[in-house]
Amino acid sequence: MLHSDAYLDNLAGEFNLAPQEVLTIIRSVGFDAEKVPADLVDLLREVIACKLHQLDRFKSADPAYEQKLDEMLRDFDEIYIDTAPIIQMDWFLHFVADVRPILRRRKKKLIILEKTMEELHGLKDNPEKDRDVRVRATIRPDLIRWLCRQGYIRIGDTGSDGIADDHLVKLFSRIGQNENVLLVTQDRGLSERIIRLGHASYEKGPQSVKQSFWEKLLRKPVVYQDPHEMVVCKLTEGGLLKRCYICPDCQQSYYDEFSHADGMIPDSACIAKHQQNEAKLRAEEERKVRLEQQRAAAAARRAARPSVEKRIRERQRKLRRNGLLVVLFGIFLVLVLLFAL
Ligand SMILES: [Zn+2]
Repeated sequence: MLHSDAYLDNLAGEFNLAPQEVLTIIRSVGFDAEKVPADLVDLLREVIACKLHQLDRFKSADPAYEQKLDEMLRDFDEIYIDTAPIIQMDWFLHFVADVRPILRRRKKKLIILEKTMEELHGLKDNPEKDRDVRVRATIRPDLIRWLCRQGYIRIGDTGSDGIADDHLVKLFSRIGQNENVLLVTQDRGLSERIIRLGHASYEKGPQSVKQSFWEKLLRKPVVYQDPHEMVVCKLTEGGLLKRCYICPDCQQSYYDEFSHADGMIPDSACIAKHQQNEAKLRAEEERKVRLEQQRAAAAARRAARPSVEKRIRERQRKLRRNGLLVVLFGIFLVLVLLFAL
């Protein structure tokens, strides 16, 4: 345990507050400020930053990151944030700190459903949840409402019946027809449902844009548009987005770098397996070709080699020729002898 002497002045100095103000903030999230667990100080720092709306301290240190994030997000008409990413570590604060200038420039807003606000409210008093989750669920709604007033977030009205997951799937199947939508969630099951939904519309290919009566009458050319993007990401450390994909081979979902593409992409294990199979097939094919070549060469050699029959005939011909020569020579000798006599 840390006594207030050990941390209060530091925190007060860091945030330019009077120690009494720091104490008030710490008590507002339910801690006895006289002594706190040593591992709580970082969370208290987050609590104070949230209360003071000091998000700039969570901004990425990489100057190129804003550009990268802009390239990821600029095509989306709607960006929904689920409940879990808001309270997992301080990742939401990092994300919001980095995304604010982009939202401002592109005139977009993050959307948080009313349902999510209710869930946060339920979490803050839930004794089954761990301390950090409860504290974050306590301080985030104030920050979210402030971000709403600043024009960075819109609270989406959902009505309060049904599960938020089902609602999101329904919502995405409706708005995903006409807009590019991004969902940030830590929930894998929900992610998979949305990816399959997006894949189905991707498979359909370009669709014709509906024409009015007059457009049809005046025979205006039909316009086709590409299917809209439906992308699911999760927040990771430092507020970085990782996109969720499903491998069409093994149907397993996985997280990887963000890309603007269909969400059904083979994972590296299946790609490696596929490549191995390809290599095996190729080797087998090559072996067959080699075998065939060897077989052809042997046949050619056999064809060139004189057969036994041919050899016997050859020998007989040779014998006959030799016999003939012997006879001729005999006759010649006889004639010579006759002349000599
Ligand atoms: Zn796979």
